[in-house]
Amino acid sequence: MPLTQRSSWLNEDLEAFRDLARTFCQKEIAPNLERWAVAKQVDRELWHKAGEVGLLCLSIPEEYGGGGGTFAHEAVLLEEQARVGDDAWGNSVHSGIVAHYLLACGTEDQKRRYLPRLASGELVGAIAMTEPGTGSDLQNVRTRAVRTSEGGDDHYVLDGAKTFITNGAQAGLVVVVAKTNPEERAQGVSLLLVETEGAAGFRRGRVLDKIGLHGQDTSELFFDGVRVPAENLLGGTEGLGFVQLMQQLPQERLIIAVGAVAAMEAAVEMTVAYTKERTAFGRPVFQFQNTRFTLAEAATEVAVAKAFLDQCVERHLRGELDVTGAAMAKWWTTDRLSRVADECLQLFGGYGYMSEYPISRAWTAARVQRIFGGTNEIMKEIISRSL
Ligand SMILES: Cc1cc2nc3c(=O)[nH]c(=O)nc-3n(C[C@H](O)[C@H](O)[C@H](O)COP(=O)(O)OP(=O)(O)OC[C@H]3O[C@@H](n4cnc5c(N)ncnc54)[C@H](O)[C@@H]3O)c2cc1C
Repeated sequence: MPLTQRSSWLNEDLEAFRDLARTFCQKEIAPNLERWAVAKQVDRELWHKAGEVGLLCLSIPEEYGGGGGTFAHEAVLLEEQARVGDDAWGNSVHSGIVAHYLLACGTEDQKRRYLPRLASGELVGAIAMTEPGTGSDLQNVRTRAVRTSEGGDDHYVLDGAKTFITNGAQAGLVVVVAKTNPEERAQGVSLLLVETEGAAGFRRGRVLDKIGLHGQDTSELFFDGVRVPAENLLGGTEGLGFVQLMQQLPQERLIIAVGAVAAMEAAVEMTVAYTKERTAFGRPVFQFQNTRFTLAEAATEVAVAKAFLDQCVERHLRGELDVTGAAMAKWWTTDRLSRVADECLQLFGGYGYMSEYPISRAWTAARVQRIFGGTNEIMKEIISRSL
């Protein structure tokens, strides 16, 4: 019996789409996860394959090359990624975040130039906010973009260093958070669209060693006097970057929450299956009252989290999810996921600590979710402002 009820926002179209997403995840992702973990990135080819079957930019209008769907399509794909234990493919950043910065804030020319290439997989998208010296305090970024017409054409000269950037090693288009006016805090922030191919002064640093998400190419990026055409200022007006970030962050946080609840459900399901098979003291581990109570509590957490999440997804589909609601969903679901994954791992005994067991990867993947997309402490700061 499934742990949760069918989501209220699902319909027949989405169920049909789920079959496509599930087949893709089972065929193209699941068999490769261990190899990608060693390579510290997915195959570049994966993006092309996903583009070919129409899995990239699902909620971007067809006129820009996207799938013409809604956030619900993105959510279904995220659920199917969680079901196969995908801890590698950074599509949610590419399709759910980068493409949406362009759609919501880009000029018509920027949308036409980049969205079709993101939808086909020709370009991989990344967003570079975090710097070695600042993460939570985004208004304090040091990366500088100075506008000049030297050499004839109107452009920015970009200098700075970014770190922890998802899709960093493969990104062909990076949305870079930079200061166009360092005298100002929020009003001095702008977003620049940087094409990395052949960009003089652009360098990728290491793919960072992490305790989890081993197949994800979380990287350092360096910009050393990179020339960015002035027409690549997102939206065409300086100083709007912080407002653009604030507008887009609720979707980023909801994406994390969808992944968290799906991962929680998968963790409980795999633990129920394991404890029913594994025996100790002559009976299945599931028969111990401690196991049954632990899993009963975890199943309840999943059901409660899913009910709240579904409400948030519905609000988002109606365009009504606010910053506070998204922050609540992000901190609460990722906090529960961490606990549930930890309790489940315990029930696997020593096998739970072995990398080859999916529960161990679910546990390390869970931990970072309280940190990225805005830490859970920052989420509580945001919520408290509404009280
Ligand atoms: C795997 C991974 C992928 C990532 N992907 C990306 C990406 O694609 N793009 C990107 O730009 N970034 C990315 N990040 C960076 C991530 O968003 C930041 O790490 C995060 O926002 C926290 O910033 P920080 O690491 O500088 O921590 P800091 O801001 O230094 O925070 C340190 C601690 O202080 C706490 N703290 C800070 N300010 C406050 C406050 N006002 N009140 C209470 N507590 C506070 C924090 O909650 C935290 O516990 C990624 C990180 C990881 C680990």
